[in-house]
Amino acid sequence: MRPGGAELGLRPDDDTIDARAVMDALGDGVAVLDAGWRVRYMNAAWERILGVARSSALGRGFWDTYPGFLVEPGAAMIRATAADGATRRFDLEHNVSGELRAYGVRVARDRTGGVVVSVSRAFATLRSVRDKALEERIEENESLHALARQMSEVADSAELLALLCDAAASLCRGHGAAVLRTTDTDAEVIAAVGIAQKVDGLKFSLAGSLAQEVIVKRDAASVDDFGHSGRPRAQLFGDAQIGPVLMAPLIAHDRVLGTLAVMRDVLSIPFSAREAQRLSVIADHAAVALWKEQLFEQAQAGDAAKGRFLATMSHELRTPLTALAGYQELLSDQVIGPLSEAQLDVLARMHAVTEHLASMIEEVLAYTSLEEGREIVRPTDFLAGDLVMAAAAVVDPAARRKQIAVVCDAPAEPIRMTSDVDKARQVLVNLAGNAVKFTDAGEVRLSVRRDMDEVRFAVQDTGIGISADDLEGLFQPFAQVETGLTRRYGGTGLGLYICRRLAGMLGGRIEVKSEPGAGSTFTLVLPTEAPAWEP
Ligand code: ADP
Repeated sequence: MRPGGAELGLRPDDDTIDARAVMDALGDGVAVLDAGWRVRYMNAAWERILGVARSSALGRGFWDTYPGFLVEPGAAMIRATAADGATRRFDLEHNVSGELRAYGVRVARDRTGGVVVSVSRAFATLRSVRDKALEERIEENESLHALARQMSEVADSAELLALLCDAAASLCRGHGAAVLRTTDTDAEVIAAVGIAQKVDGLKFSLAGSLAQEVIVKRDAASVDDFGHSGRPRAQLFGDAQIGPVLMAPLIAHDRVLGTLAVMRDVLSIPFSAREAQRLSVIADHAAVALWKEQLFEQAQAGDAAKGRFLATMSHELRTPLTALAGYQELLSDQVIGPLSEAQLDVLARMHAVTEHLASMIEEVLAYTSLEEGREIVRPTDFLAGDLVMAAAAVVDPAARRKQIAVVCDAPAEPIRMTSDVDKARQVLVNLAGNAVKFTDAGEVRLSVRRDMDEVRFAVQDTGIGISADDLEGLFQPFAQVETGLTRRYGGTGLGLYICRRLAGMLGGRIEVKSEPGAGSTFTLVLPTEAPAWEP
């Protein structure tokens, strides 16, 4: 910037043509004011730069001549340093205060108490600076929206925390950022980027820390020179030499989950109030996302615990049940002694119940083993027709008891396929078992045909059918159309879920068509060649 009026040797009472001519020749705007800040003179550049007509400004109060300065009502100030070193503050529109200084307003005081204000040419861009501030605000809004969107899409908490740190560091122009998880007494750094990485994983007591201040205030707080602040944690950053630190609390549903911090290295400019606001907005978004994530993780942990309980329980139930079946067999084989017809009949009923119980336990075990990812696919070559016959044979005794016919339609020509035959059989037996279970009269028909490079195994019944509404939830675990205490048909509600999972493992699917009162058709569709399997 060019030197101001005082340094040019001008005096406010020096109204000679020469002095004015000198001032008019300057590229910078210069205004000469009297001790009461009224305009005595302003040069041509001033008129041009600030767009203020000299004729209208002369004799008027200095600030009254600058509509451009007082952009919005409301007070903030600019600071201008006079040539004599004195600092003056002017009430000005808040957002442009920083820029005004940057764009070179200078104030000098002369011997008589008058003032010379000079502005550089760059001041003419004040308007565009204001536009820039607006643009920045729009940009900031967009970034925050984008962040909220990204947060709703991330898969797990580690990713979420990393995203937060990156966003905080970039939106608040930090050299690092960290998320702290806090309890009533302690804090732990659970995620960190940039210069904060050095303290990742660090645990410390909250006493006297910035985090504690932030939590108590429930508002953002900052320290301009963290390394020398005497805060208990300062030395922990070691070589990183942290300068300004800004921190905001993470509060969701009135509970403090932790804090979010951004930091700059030493000698950096302190964080502004605007940046503190920005960090608070990020922290608010973050807290809600973290809260949800925590709930989800708790639910998952609960699920896992339930899964383990189910697995152990069914395992424990299977052993005595096997013994029970063994004793029943001993009795009915009459190894121990002869039995009457009536006794044998009771034993047969006991056997049926034990078998039913065993099959339910097997179902739960199959479910837990699928959920834990313990199932693997072992493909072999086989004939689709053989598979259908085998499944029919398994459900035939139950069908006979209900006086339902199980009919097998043999394929027109042999269909050779490669898949995991045990899993395919498990699915078909389950579908056929359901068909028998939910049919009181008529027949269950099993058929198979090839359709391009797929094999379609259909299980058709003349049973109770399923309404369109109920079809949707059918393949969910524990789903049963009929619920409540008065259920007519027993079962775990896991069969179809397991079937769908197994079919999926074999590269296939299950299709279903049904009409209430008329019957259902469940079709297992498998590729003739099971695709390479990855757990
Ligand atoms: P469940 O062990 O209860 O049979 P499934 O997952 O095998 O569990 O079946 C879920 C529900 O779907 C059954 O409770 C029943 O309401 C319905 N369902 C399944 N198969 C049939 C069918 N063939 N006919 C009518 N309803 C069926």
